[in-house]
Amino acid sequence: HLLIKDFYLRSFKILTRKDLTKLLVVLIIQIGLSLLDLLGVALIGLIGALTVSGIQSQTPSGAVASALSLLGILEFTFQGQAAVLGLSAAIVMISRTILSIISIRRVLHFLSARGAQISSNLLRKLLSQQISVINQKTSQETLYALTNGVMSITLGIIGNSVTLIADAILLTVLFFGILIVDPFMAISTLFSFSLIALALYKLLHKKALDLGNSQAKITVLSNERIVEIVQGYREISVWNRKDFYASEISKLRFTLSRDLAESSFLPYIGKYVLETAIILGALTISAIQFIVSDAANAIATMSVFLAAGSRIAPAVLRMQQGGLQINGAMGSSGPTLNLIEELSQLKEINPLVESVQKFEYPGFRANVNLSEVTYFYPDENSPALKNLTLDINDGEFLAIVGPSGAGKSTLADLILGLLTPTQGEARVAGVKPGEAIAQWPGSISYVPQDPLIVNGSIQENIAFGFPVENLSEERLYEAIRLAQLEEFLASLPFGVKTIVGERGARLSGGQKQRLGIARALYTNPRLVILDEATSALDGKTEADFSHALSSLKQNLTLVVIAHRLSTVQDADKVIYLEEGEIKAHGTFSKVRELVKDFDSQARLMGL
Ligand code: ADP
Repeated sequence: HLLIKDFYLRSFKILTRKDLTKLLVVLIIQIGLSLLDLLGVALIGLIGALTVSGIQSQTPSGAVASALSLLGILEFTFQGQAAVLGLSAAIVMISRTILSIISIRRVLHFLSARGAQISSNLLRKLLSQQISVINQKTSQETLYALTNGVMSITLGIIGNSVTLIADAILLTVLFFGILIVDPFMAISTLFSFSLIALALYKLLHKKALDLGNSQAKITVLSNERIVEIVQGYREISVWNRKDFYASEISKLRFTLSRDLAESSFLPYIGKYVLETAIILGALTISAIQFIVSDAANAIATMSVFLAAGSRIAPAVLRMQQGGLQINGAMGSSGPTLNLIEELSQLKEINPLVESVQKFEYPGFRANVNLSEVTYFYPDENSPALKNLTLDINDGEFLAIVGPSGAGKSTLADLILGLLTPTQGEARVAGVKPGEAIAQWPGSISYVPQDPLIVNGSIQENIAFGFPVENLSEERLYEAIRLAQLEEFLASLPFGVKTIVGERGARLSGGQKQRLGIARALYTNPRLVILDEATSALDGKTEADFSHALSSLKQNLTLVVIAHRLSTVQDADKVIYLEEGEIKAHGTFSKVRELVKDFDSQARLMGL
């Protein structure tokens, strides 16, 4: 129970004060609608009583008479009275239905839009974090938390809670209405329905919660496996793991199907139990009425009970099923609630700013300064970088070399603001890297070893995020020329409009890298960081590319991480990194003298 209360609190926390006010208004409207319901039920009860007196050729007396005089139809003929009452009952019931439909539709639209808003805010908040936060979850976990999980909270928990409360209001109003006509019937009905509802709840709610939980987990797992099999088809084929994967996915789908069937079935238990209870209730109440009271009274009570029952039964059913849906949604909302709470404790580090295609960066000086930077990855005991101080001047070509695992990529991520130092400070152009990117978007560029290739054309991949309609042809072809892509593009039937396939499926490793390089140079950057960005190029292409880069040297600060040492032998400065520390720095030949390992590597490469 504590757990469930906790879920309610966590879910409703995502609503603003204004949202809550809106929901309160909805509930007030619901009270009005319930009163309309009660009026309808009372009118039908009156018709019942009137019919009995008509059959017995008596004039109405007592409560019925005073009700008729209240309506101003006491003097009407019996037929006239019945017609007025019947018509009023119909109008009341129909208006109530129409108003309910309008109100529920608005609530659902409101909650749905709120869900979209939450997804969008969460995504923005997540994107403003450093890369270590984003990498803490698998992509499928993040995907689920941003989509299905959000809907579980808004429509699943909050939406169902609203209908649940609305139905509770209706039942309360009807209960008090019937209490006036027949206290015994009201109390015994309330008592027996409460008992049944409580028993069903006890029996089913934990099951629904567990099923929701397991559905969320299995959906994520199964999606992960499916993505793996598509992305890793090569390895999976060669290692003969296709059958393994297919069986694995099949197992997950079957488990999921059982959970889904089970959670669709749960509401039926309640439905059948409650239907039976209503029929038994009607029989019991009419039996009791016929024994203790006269026929007129019995029929009046019966018609009230049936009219009320036609409202009570669906309301109780909806409440029961809504309760189960809430429990299921609680189970599957976990990933989203966790993400919301984790992110709420983090500051925005890299703000989201709109990019403009200016290609000019007044005021930007490509100085990089790291002072006494130490970086620990989350949950790691030893630092990836230790007390590192480094200054790169505007226009310099710096090479970072060292064994793998030395911290080279970590260093690049710190310069790019993808990571923030645990201790010490990183600055680009005198400000934090994230701020430099926000102030001069496009001034800093980066090419990883395996650049992201999006499913689209070559020009879309180069302009990357800028709409192709207003792409700069001049910059596009300049970037293509520098990245040594001209010849390749000339061989393609559709040139820059050629579609490259998801993750660049139709490109070789070297072509993907050159596309990554062209993208990095499209914005006419002032600081470029290449992290093993030319590892898949052949010797000649790489030499041509280095040559092309040196033509930009006047205006470009270059930071190159490379294992192939020919790439960096012309660097102004080389730093040799080992176990997170700078072991040596200086020109290429000076570092060769200082570090034996480095010298023997260079020798092996024929330098
Ligand atoms: P290099 O680029 O020189 O090969 P990295 O900067 O990638 O080295 O890694 C430096 C150290 O940090 C390595 O020991 C590596 O295992 C560790 N490391 C890298 N990324 C992570 C991460 N996301 N979480 C934990 N440790 C990491």
